[in-house]
Parts: sequence; structure tokens; C-alpha cells
Amino acid sequence: MNPGPAGLDAWPAPDIRYHSAPMDEFTVIDRFFKNQRVHRDDVPLGIGDDAAWIQGPAGGGLVVTTDVLVAGVHFPDDTAPADVGHKALAVNLSDIAAMGAAPAWATLALTLPGVDEPWLESFASGFFELATRYDVQLVGGDTTRGPLSIAVQLIGLVGDAGCLTRGGASEGDLVYVSGTLGDAGLGLRIIRGALEAPLSDTAFLLHRLNRPTPRVELGRALAGIATAAIDVSDGLAADLEHLCVRSAAGAVVEIADVPLSGAYRRLLPEVGWESALSFGDDYELCFTVAPGDASTVEQLGRDHEVPVTHIGRITGDAVKWLSQGRPFSPHGHGYQHFS
Ligand code: ADP
Ligand code: MG
Repeated sequence: MNPGPAGLDAWPAPDIRYHSAPMDEFTVIDRFFKNQRVHRDDVPLGIGDDAAWIQGPAGGGLVVTTDVLVAGVHFPDDTAPADVGHKALAVNLSDIAAMGAAPAWATLALTLPGVDEPWLESFASGFFELATRYDVQLVGGDTTRGPLSIAVQLIGLVGDAGCLTRGGASEGDLVYVSGTLGDAGLGLRIIRGALEAPLSDTAFLLHRLNRPTPRVELGRALAGIATAAIDVSDGLAADLEHLCVRSAAGAVVEIADVPLSGAYRRLLPEVGWESALSFGDDYELCFTVAPGDASTVEQLGRDHEVPVTHIGRITGDAVKWLSQGRPFSPHGHGYQHFS
């Protein structure tokens, strides 16, 4: 896109051979993003034209999602660029996982303060490592100058079982979550200097913050089994509420059943439940199943090597939180620890 005479397109023609002059938009695209081979056979035309040509499936249809990461808002400014590349795709993969779909094609809109080649090299390595793992083809994007932000759009294929939505939970269904919650929130507190943990726990918590694992395989396997699903990006309390609102239902959850990592458990007396329930950035799945499907879901967790934990059930009432049977407010509890 041409931003006008004052923009990047007004720069002198690049020296593509030596990169001695500042790189322009097209050189950045060619060097870091267009050089990926097209590895999906449903992409007749990838990066390089005015738009990509992708061949959608005959049945089933597509799901599409987009998420933007802004430096200083969604990640600290000094986050390693490979982590930024990973996370920009991972957060979108997590949405596709929550729909029970198979990720396929991505576009990447990059706003960069300048052309920092080592930064771009590392960013692209983090992005493409994850893209390759899930057979995602980057098919286009845009590259402009401005405060650092990364917008990814991801398109996925819906399988024969249809897609998962937030809207299908009904009274009596069991509520599950994958993985553990709250690790990313504790990682951020460590980065901000507001929390200390032993070295190995620190490494684990930072990894959970910077390198979330989208539950793509589990999500796909849950299509046709789970009655509703959402990915935990805003915190379990908020996201379970979203699921319940869409399902016109409520839920009851005992917080002692919410799965925590070993690192979190060791810090629990100091930090409380706040991070696990209200921070977010977890990119785990919260989903519901009919009681008869409990053993199927637990087997799926073992098959995909992802812990799945039963934390509560869907009711006809509001969302209620309990701590050892007593009413508990997930919002603000332990908040004084954040400053
Ligand atoms: P246009 O001006 O027609 O929008 P651009 O000059 O912005 O096209 O982009 C040229 C080609 O490079 C297009 O295929 C576009 O999708 C692709 N592209 C631009 N930036 C990126 C990026 N960051 N990652 C992947 N593809 C990109
Ligand atoms: Mg452009």
C-alpha cells in the first residue's frame, strides 16, 4: 500500500544485492517473508500479487480470525523478537483451536519503527517455526512504518464435525480447561520486578508468557464432542463468563480444582488466585462436554499430551465461584500484589 510521498515508497530504490542502502518495504517483504516456499497445495498464488489465491474446501467452510499485538501494550518493548513472532501467530492459532478448526493460511500486517535486520530475522524465525509446525502458509500482508505492531489474520478449515462455538453449553455439562492457568501473568510480574521466583520456575513462567502453546490438536479433536469452547485470553473468569453469556447459562467452579503449574503452586501463598483467574494470556482452552463424554475427553487429553481438568459444571443460574464450598470473588482477590 502506498502511504504517499512522505512514506516508505518515497525512499530511493533499494540495492537488493548488498542491502547497503536502508531497506525499503519491498526488500523487507522479499528478504524476510516472501522467501518461504509455498508448502500447501491449496495456495495457487501466494505472496507477491495484489491478493493471494487460496482454494477453500468443497464442504465445511472456513473460520477467520485476527489479533493485533502492540509493543508496550501486549508485550514489553524489549521482548525477544523471536518470541514476538511466535506469539503473534500463537494467539491467532489459539482462536482457531477454540473453533475446533484446522489452521491453514495467514496474512501478516507489520508496522515497524524502522528496518532492523537482526530484529526482523529473529521475528521471522519465531513466526515461521510455529507456522511450519501447524502447516500454516503465509500468503500476504502489509509492511508499513510506525510504532511497532503486528497484526495477523488466520484462516482455518472447518472439518466434517463442524466448528465449536461459545454458544452450545447447557445445564449439567461439565466444564474443563486444558493445561495450567496463570503462568503468563506471573511471568509478567517477574519481568516487571514485582515478583521473585527460583531460577527454574522463572524460566518456566517466562516461557509460558512468551511462547504460549496453542491447543490446536486438542481443539480439532474436540469438534463434535465439546458442546462449547473458548480460548482463555482474557482470564478464566472473564472467558467462562463469555461462554456462559453466549450459551444463556451459568456455571459453578471450585477454584481449588483450577489447574496450576508446580511453579504457580509454590508461589500461591504469596500471589493468590488472581493470576490464574483474572490475568489471561494463557491460550488454554475452556470447554464444556455432556457428562457422558467425560472419559472421552480425558482420553483425548492423554492422546494429545495435554492435561485436561474438570473444574466445574454448567448451571441454569449465574457464574458462581467457590473456595472450599464458600462463595469467592475471582475479581480483585490478591490484587494488592500488583502495583
Ligand atoms: P499492495 O500495495 O498491492 O497492497 P504491497 O506492496 O503492500 O501490495 O505488498 C506486496 C505483496 O507482498 C503482497 O502480496 C502482500 O500481500 C505481500 N506482503 C506485504 N507485506 C507482507 C508481510 N509483512 N508479510 C507477508 N506478505 C507481505
Ligand atoms: Mg503494502
